[in-house]
Amino acid sequence: MSGRIPDNIVDRIKNESDIVAVISEFVSLKKSGKDYKGLCPFHQEKTPSFFVIPTKGFFHCFGCGKGGGAVNFIMEHERLEYPAALRYLAEKAGIEIPLTDSVNTFEEVLYSALASAASFFEKSLRESSSGAKTMQYLKSRGISDDTARQFGLGFAPDGWDNLIKAVSAKGIRAADLESAGLAVKKEGYYDRFRNRLTIPIRTIAGKVVGFGARVLPGDDSPKYINSPETAVYKKGRILYGLDVSKNEIRSKDQAIVVEGYFDLITLYQAGIKNVVAVSGTGFTDEQAALLARFCQRVILLFDSDSAGIKAAFRASGVLYNSGLEPSLVRLPKGFDPDTFIREKGPEELSRVISDAVDIIDFVRQGLNGRFSDQPLSRQKRIVQVLLEVTSPIEDNLTRDLLAKKMFDKLGIDTNTIGAIKTAKGAFKDDIDFIPNVGMRKTEFDFIALLFAHPAFLNEVPSIIDDTLFSEPEHAEIYSSIVHFHKEGRALSIPDLSEEISDGPANRRLREIAIQSEKMSELINEFPKYVQKFRLIFNKKRRAELKSLIEEAHKRSDFNKLEILTREFQNLNHEVKANDARV
Ligand SMILES: [Zn+2]
Repeated sequence: MSGRIPDNIVDRIKNESDIVAVISEFVSLKKSGKDYKGLCPFHQEKTPSFFVIPTKGFFHCFGCGKGGGAVNFIMEHERLEYPAALRYLAEKAGIEIPLTDSVNTFEEVLYSALASAASFFEKSLRESSSGAKTMQYLKSRGISDDTARQFGLGFAPDGWDNLIKAVSAKGIRAADLESAGLAVKKEGYYDRFRNRLTIPIRTIAGKVVGFGARVLPGDDSPKYINSPETAVYKKGRILYGLDVSKNEIRSKDQAIVVEGYFDLITLYQAGIKNVVAVSGTGFTDEQAALLARFCQRVILLFDSDSAGIKAAFRASGVLYNSGLEPSLVRLPKGFDPDTFIREKGPEELSRVISDAVDIIDFVRQGLNGRFSDQPLSRQKRIVQVLLEVTSPIEDNLTRDLLAKKMFDKLGIDTNTIGAIKTAKGAFKDDIDFIPNVGMRKTEFDFIALLFAHPAFLNEVPSIIDDTLFSEPEHAEIYSSIVHFHKEGRALSIPDLSEEISDGPANRRLREIAIQSEKMSELINEFPKYVQKFRLIFNKKRRAELKSLIEEAHKRSDFNKLEILTREFQNLNHEVKANDARV
């Protein structure tokens, strides 16, 4: 059954679902104060760190960071898409969903345009004469007809409007094709993909959302053209191939991540089927969360060049942050997975994969001797790389433990790091090995206080604006609650979490909500927080004034100069007095 669920019914489903009852079906929950706790169903643990907070209608795991409302729980646990999760909960709560007429939503129009395009391309591959050449090319790369069918490979014929013409018979307009990323509008519309091998990109459920399109031999235009992001295609949320590999990944509790479409297709065909590909993006939090639904262990099989290794390091941090266990494979120089398998065979690749090691051993293997024997410039680079791995990890404890483990194992003296960190220009200041207890904590507690005492939101926005927050997550959460309060809406965590971007900000929101329980007594602290923010504002303004004064000076605008200087002096006074107090 498809069709949109009316908004008022969605609200009823959310309000009437008892989150404790919903989760109890899958997790054995014990009462703990006002809340409930149990063993997290999303990661392995022996002591419970999974909490359900019925008064606020959400759950949160301190171990793996998963959390959200009842709908999120069902989506995550039962692996359902949003509408299906709503239907599930409606049934549990005895809420009937009225049948809507079959008016297609915008998304449905795009899906149908994409599906039609996919079948047109497949047909062209098999039935046109230039398609036959493409087929020949696939054969030369060792890709069988079965594999080509399984991955829906196709061919976009040469010419400007083959696709546009072919699908117009089905009532799909050129404008819809444009919205789906398949046509480009200049004066008129023309096909985006021309004379290329097409690779459909599909969701877990197998719906086509976009295409990668590869150039054919003898054509010197760019190797790949990919679909742009559209209403249904968000690159950071898709893992290529997961629709065909998810069962294998689940049963092996392990996923191999490669970088390109053909790396994946070649591995899959060779019988290494627990594989997914990231294409055209760095590894994102959303992709890690997607993988975490199916497995715990992730092997990064990236190119052996330095860009590939860098990408693998960065991906490791993101994976650690989602509670996954990444390890890395070192391919011999000059190989990517596709070329390796074609030259050395699948057994040899399986062997190399089974030698995957965690990031620490990976670095150690690459060292050629002890850390202390390396030249200083190299030491600096190594430490920097390691800190880049740990920096996406939001949980302070996990981050510091991992960093410590890395440094211990490599025999790196943490004093050295202190020295390297403070050395001029060695680090950008965003790398944060030692937890930043300063502003980060102040902001966190301040927002928690606002949750505990929303009445402060009547006055706060006029004194504190979101640009004063040092952490983007905090700024986002703050401006959302200000906005909610302005509209007279309650600060419901499930509602807010829909407004706030997925990933770190959402996780932070839940941590703050939990913290807010402890903040109710701290009502008297409020003026102190305001003062701290005031200080930050003043410092910012002071820096601003400095450059304004210089400018006025250059222009010999003495009127302006006088006004600015006076403001500067007053501000300076206030800042100094404040600095002494705080
Ligand atoms: Zn968990």
